[in-house]
Amino acid sequence: MSSTPPPFDPIDPLGLDDLLEPEDLAVRDAVRAWARDRVLPHIAEWYERGELPVIRELAKELGALGALGMPLEGYGCAGASAVQYGLACLELEAADSGIRSLVSVQGSLAMYAIHRFGTEEQKQRWLPSMAAGELIGCFGLTEPDVGSDPAAMRTHARRDGDDWVLNGRKMWITNGSVAGVAVVWARTEDGVAGFAVPTDSPGFSAPEIRHKWSLRASVTSELVMDEVRLPADALLPGARGLRAPLSCLNHARYGIVWGAMGAARASFEAALEYARTREQFGRPIGGFQLTQGKLADMALELHKGLLLAHHLGRRMDAGLLRPEQVSFGKLNNVREAIEICRTARTVLGANGISLEYPVMRHATNLESVLTYEGTVEMHQLVLGKALTGLDAFR
Ligand SMILES: Cc1cc2nc3c(=O)[nH]c(=O)nc-3n(C[C@H](O)[C@H](O)[C@H](O)COP(=O)(O)OP(=O)(O)OC[C@H]3O[C@@H](n4cnc5c(N)ncnc54)[C@H](O)[C@@H]3O)c2cc1C
Repeated sequence: MSSTPPPFDPIDPLGLDDLLEPEDLAVRDAVRAWARDRVLPHIAEWYERGELPVIRELAKELGALGALGMPLEGYGCAGASAVQYGLACLELEAADSGIRSLVSVQGSLAMYAIHRFGTEEQKQRWLPSMAAGELIGCFGLTEPDVGSDPAAMRTHARRDGDDWVLNGRKMWITNGSVAGVAVVWARTEDGVAGFAVPTDSPGFSAPEIRHKWSLRASVTSELVMDEVRLPADALLPGARGLRAPLSCLNHARYGIVWGAMGAARASFEAALEYARTREQFGRPIGGFQLTQGKLADMALELHKGLLLAHHLGRRMDAGLLRPEQVSFGKLNNVREAIEICRTARTVLGANGISLEYPVMRHATNLESVLTYEGTVEMHQLVLGKALTGLDAFR
């Protein structure tokens, strides 16, 4: 082999684009262009206001892009590969974790639950409008007193004739106040069950949670269910026990493995650009060894994380991906992404804390990403159990 290697590309130092097919690159470029045009010009303002004011318009545009329920088959979904879905998450989170969260919850949690556990009638009723972004969904598992241990959930559903009657509260629910359908997990006589709850049902309300210092451009809500009466066909019949919501989370976590690297990439690129142009002591700060050490270490973790995401994507496409491997990816990539953002913040000095630059916004967003979809500690425990065969959860 005597071919000449291409020049070194600081943005793709390992040549990872070579792993992508032309159709993967097309998906990536389309989502990147959408995020550049529709999110980046406004995101600092939305973040500062603590709102996502155009969420309904954005959802429809994301639907038109094919980004909602992207890897699902039928019902208006794109039927994309796991790698393509991952690339979309990467590009969306490079804009803001709030936008990727909107897409993850819609597609990987709410739509996935209905697609996997619903009847044909439920799928026909909900999925086409959700894929188009005309209807927003949310996923209610966490409660005020129940987070990492969902087996302790208190929300419950009792039978009343043919109906179900739902009571309880869910907390920290993404998309809650703007959702038309809520997938709610509740305890029943037969164990944990999932319900597709129309949010205009009497007794259902979803007050928005304010005063967040992370994921500010994302709608986060409480779900309050007070004697919510549901017809028998609100139950998702294929969902039996806690395994059902956990399988949805596994799917969403996979998207986070890629998405977190998007936030890291945006922060790395901001730091690289800043290091090249900002001068102190008569020369660019990128010329100092300590800054170069930071940039080199950031690039290492960023591209190792992307390689890991790609590997897991290929395993998912081949039907070989295990939940422990998703934990591996989520634990590593979110932890490294937040470290990259924090390091980028130091390269930018005081400007690093300004919303004029993306790094502090990404760093604060990743504080939520570190916690939701299983905390760092939960994924350490998943891996610890897989490695030792010993369960240390309780
Ligand atoms: C912005 C945002 C959006 C969210 N969106 C959603 C959503 O759409 N739907 C939804 O259902 N939930 C959502 N969540 C909730 C999220 O999934 C939970 O916050 C998460 O599961 C952790 O639960 P907790 O916050 O109650 O923490 P806790 O479970 O109370 O944990 C607190 C701390 O104790 C640690 N801990 C707990 N048990 C152990 C143990 N056995 N060993 C060691 N350490 C332990 C945890 O790791 C953590 O560090 C969201 C959260 C945020 C911040």
